[in-house]
Amino acid sequence: NRQWVLRQRPKGLIKKGDLELVESPIPDLKESEVLVRTVYLSLDPTNRTWMNDSEGYLPPVALGEVMRGLTLGVVEATRSSRFRVGDVVSPLSGGWADYAVVREQALRPIHRAPGLQLTANMSVLGMTGLTAYFGVTDVLKAKGGETLVISAAAGAVGSIAGQIAKQRGCRVIGIAGGPEKCAWLTGELGFDAAIDYKNEDVGEALDRLAPDGVDLNFENVGGDIMIAVFNRLKVHGRMAVCGLVSSYNATKAPPSPNFARIITHRLDVQGFLVLDYAHRAQEMAAEMAPWLIDGQVKWKVHVDDGLEGAVTSLNRLFTGDHDGKLLVRVSEE
Ligand code: NDP
Repeated sequence: NRQWVLRQRPKGLIKKGDLELVESPIPDLKESEVLVRTVYLSLDPTNRTWMNDSEGYLPPVALGEVMRGLTLGVVEATRSSRFRVGDVVSPLSGGWADYAVVREQALRPIHRAPGLQLTANMSVLGMTGLTAYFGVTDVLKAKGGETLVISAAAGAVGSIAGQIAKQRGCRVIGIAGGPEKCAWLTGELGFDAAIDYKNEDVGEALDRLAPDGVDLNFENVGGDIMIAVFNRLKVHGRMAVCGLVSSYNATKAPPSPNFARIITHRLDVQGFLVLDYAHRAQEMAAEMAPWLIDGQVKWKVHVDDGLEGAVTSLNRLFTGDHDGKLLVRVSEE
């Protein structure tokens, strides 16, 4: 069983030697345990934050421990009465490994969505979809006619969140890196406008595209991009702080907005975690599934083959060198 083990805490982008791929035997199953063969490993920007020794929403991965990660896999052996060999399941933390031994309480059965690939369960109908859906509907409470600006808009969460906001009748402006990503947002996804932060000044572009200001910010990036949007939030503007990906590899603190605007403009700024919405997955699926089946909401996955490349793959999230929800195919479906 190959497993990626954390050896030292990375500084900046992950480098050779920070993690090591080791071989270990699969332990015998105890009562109520299940052996899961990993099919897909989800790579998420937050994986990088789990490698730091800092206070987070989960404890850091300990040195010498298998890297934590959300997986989807198939039951290969079982001592549980709840799961049978061949069942498709998603362990809460299968980890970066070929196989995982998981307690039945920590396993979620996966029901394939009719007409959709299994990768939908690891993206648009998985954590990505949940984050996007509840960020827009429950945190931002987006309403028709409001102008919403979203950063990392061509990424997994951003692209879905923007489309959900369009379904709610918002005017949606996406911020993304590069002309191809921006063209995809306005062309295929129906965003009203896109700002290529690598080639234009975000603040100037916002002044041109939203001269009356911004009602809603779905924030995925942080730093200067977030500040540019924050400084244009209207009175009673609302901000959902979903992620701060630009800071996950940072070795010094990124710039922060001036909080005075929260007072002067009576802003509603709310951070949220998808984990708090896991119990409402059915609600999301009920509204999203028809949009997905008839193509009103589009989604993409970027699948890299091979557990051995997981570290190189993870770094894609910080260079933008991926096209859709980033997954590693560890074994065949
Ligand atoms: P994405 O698919 O969006 O990948 C990350 C993207 O971020 C990259 O493609 C890149 O897009 C952009 N990016 C990376 N570094 C920078 C930078 N320095 N400046 C500007 N843009 C950058 O990943 P996800 O959809 O999985 O995650 C998006 C955000 O949502 C992250 O911040 C993540 O932590 C957060 N998140 C939060 C959750 C929660 O519960 N609160 C749950 C899931 C995700 P580009 O090419 O456009 O630069």
